[in-house]
Amino acid sequence: MPDNSDHSTRDVIIIGAGVCGIYMLHKLLECGMNATVVDAAERPGGTWNKNRYPGARFDSESYSYGYSFNEEILQEWEWSEQFAGQPETLRYLTYVVDKLDIRDHMQFNCLVSAARYDEARSCWQVELADGRTLCSRYLCTAVGLLSAPTKPRFKEMASFEGESFHTYEWPEDLDYANKRVAVIGTGATGVQIISEIHDKVSELKVFQRRPNWCAPLKNFPIEDQAALKASYPALFEKMKSTLSGFVHAPRMVASTEETKEEREAFWEELYEQPGFGIWLGNYYNVLLDEDANREFSEFIAKKIRQRVDDPATAEKLIPTDHGFGTRRVPLETRYFEAYNNPAVELIDLNDTAIERITPEGIKTSAQDYQFDIIVYATGFDAVTGAFDLIDITGREGEKLRDKWRDDPLTYLGLQVVGFPNLFTLAGPQSASVGSNFPPAIQSVVDWTCELIQYLEDNKIKGCEPSVASEQYWQGEVKKGYELTLLGTAKSWFTGYNSNVDGHDKLRHLVYFNGAPKLRESLSAESDNGYPGFELQA
Ligand code: NAP
Repeated sequence: MPDNSDHSTRDVIIIGAGVCGIYMLHKLLECGMNATVVDAAERPGGTWNKNRYPGARFDSESYSYGYSFNEEILQEWEWSEQFAGQPETLRYLTYVVDKLDIRDHMQFNCLVSAARYDEARSCWQVELADGRTLCSRYLCTAVGLLSAPTKPRFKEMASFEGESFHTYEWPEDLDYANKRVAVIGTGATGVQIISEIHDKVSELKVFQRRPNWCAPLKNFPIEDQAALKASYPALFEKMKSTLSGFVHAPRMVASTEETKEEREAFWEELYEQPGFGIWLGNYYNVLLDEDANREFSEFIAKKIRQRVDDPATAEKLIPTDHGFGTRRVPLETRYFEAYNNPAVELIDLNDTAIERITPEGIKTSAQDYQFDIIVYATGFDAVTGAFDLIDITGREGEKLRDKWRDDPLTYLGLQVVGFPNLFTLAGPQSASVGSNFPPAIQSVVDWTCELIQYLEDNKIKGCEPSVASEQYWQGEVKKGYELTLLGTAKSWFTGYNSNVDGHDKLRHLVYFNGAPKLRESLSAESDNGYPGFELQA
């Protein structure tokens, strides 16, 4: 077999051309480093290139999802809606790549199958599925938090004769108009699809295992671009100050400090507001105290009962296993009203389980259903899943997937003992998992570039954290899980995925202590000369 490997050693290889990879590449090139991005897709965009299902859109305010590092981009780009749809976001990321003129440093259709640290040469050998091997001194992963889709393990799934697919693989030319469609899963993705397609298909059956607490998105077109742009500095300052990195900050009053009437009035106000205010701008104790959370959950349950005509269906749409906001809240546009459409039926899998997939559709314990299309809106092997798809081998032959099998271990969510010069930019326990992704990733990328420069300037060959640092960070991450009710519910935040062996227990994927605290930890490290790392000259 011809050796078509590229034997030159680059400074940095970045895996992933999404929001994180784009910015990391730009920063490294700006610092004069020789860097390349590799991505399995055919174009940049990451999650916004892959998630092309109908209804896919932001739940972050558009401007809060855009990059804030470049004034020209900020002034030139105009978001058309408060919460932009997927096509617009993909256009934005494409525009940024071209504006920064970095496309020549990106390689597409390059699926990374393995990465191995070569200790003798202090470099990473990155193997591509096409047989090539690339080499770099530093390896940065920007592989996305939700990029390893998982399907259920029903019997005879391959027997279905219609179209069936995971939402991450939505066929570009799929015609679902007037078709009989099944949607399995009612997370944020399922909720967006159901809301968008229910009045276009001939019939829609929604197969639900556990409902989620959803709240209105309240999207609107942005009319006054000049006013929005003028407010950017204040908005970005605000985002820096909040735990979540969004513009929404909790109300620093306990719900119990106000009267029932005052609480109701405040909650009515929140219900009418766009975005995550209802989750992140609520009384601070709603996500801390079970009684406060229960009362607010009851307020939302009342809204669901008001919006869904059939009382039995309404009850099925009200979660009973977790409180409001303890899983990531799907923001919706007339989702509950979709169930008032006679073409839509909610099938509760707790009453009638799916026994198997048939050539014609789905067989439950109660009945046989016929479909043209089955949509698996069944989520992702979150955060660590994309790492597990790459055979990553560190010093002394240790495999990352073995080290992280039970629970990930990192320092600052960025580095792992035994894996020198590997920077897990959007990895577990990093800033990006617990807060608004793009602003979080910007600070992490800036910090990592600085560290890489420090290593270069000081001729350091290998950088990895000390064992004590890793243990300290695990303790910090665990504290975050105990801090709020978010660490209690079974969701991707807590590493739960019933479709992956071993992922039916609590795993610590998220840094819940807030973006400002994480930035403080990063600054403390760099200001003190990186005491938490072992640097090998
Ligand atoms: P998800 O929240 O994990 O939801 C997956 C759904 O599939 C759940 O309802 C789950 O039920 C169901 N499911 C999984 N396996 C099943 C099985 N074997 N049988 C029956 N049902 C099964 O995944 P997602 O909806 O793709 O959302 C993931 C995350 O992506 C969101 O939390 C959010 O962070 C992000 N997202 C963001 C946006 C946005 O607005 N920007 C939109 C979409 C997604 P259980 O609940 O019982 O496990």
